[in-house]
Amino acid sequence: MPRLLRLRTDKSPKECTIQQLSAEKPLKQYRSKRDFQRTTEPEGEAAAAISAADKIFVIQEHHSRRLHYDFRLERDGVLKSWAVPKGIPETTEDKRLAVETEDHPLEYAKFEGEIPKGQYGAGTVIIWDKGTYTPKVWDEKMVEFTLKGEKLKGRYVLVRLKRAGEKSWLMLKGKD
Ligand code: MN
Repeated sequence: MPRLLRLRTDKSPKECTIQQLSAEKPLKQYRSKRDFQRTTEPEGEAAAAISAADKIFVIQEHHSRRLHYDFRLERDGVLKSWAVPKGIPETTEDKRLAVETEDHPLEYAKFEGEIPKGQYGAGTVIIWDKGTYTPKVWDEKMVEFTLKGEKLKGRYVLVRLKRAGEKSWLMLKGKD
C-alpha cells in the first residue's frame, strides 16, 4: 500500500512521471537481457544518485547485426534510450526513426567495447558523441531538448509515432 514518506523539495512537479509510480524496478528489463558474467557492460547501481547538475547524453555507435546509433538521455537516475538506425538528423528536413529501447544504467554512458558473440546486442560499441542536455518538454508524446555535445549542438525533438506502435518515435532537428 502506498504511503507518504516525505516531500521531495529537490524535485519540481515537472520532473514527476507516471513511470515512477509503476511497480517495475528500474533496469529490470536491461538486466534480464544480459549475462554479466560474460559481457563487460555495466550492471548498474541499485539506485543512482540523483544530481541537480546538468543531465548527460550519449550517442553510441553500435555495430551489432545492423549498425545503429543508440541515443540516451539521463532522466530519473537512468538513461532513457532509443535506437536510431539511420543516425541522428543532420538537417531540419531529416526525419529519423528512433525505436525506444530499455532504460540503461547511468554508467552505460561510459561504455565502449565489444559485446561478446551470443550476448544481447553482440558487436562493437563506440561513443560517437557525448555531453550534456537541457530538456524543454518531456511528456508522453514529445521530448524536446538542446544538446551540448562535442559534435552535436542545438535543438532536437523526439515525437512519438502513435500509429506505428508504442515504441516508435521520430527524431527531428529543430531550428536554432
Ligand atoms: Mn544498440
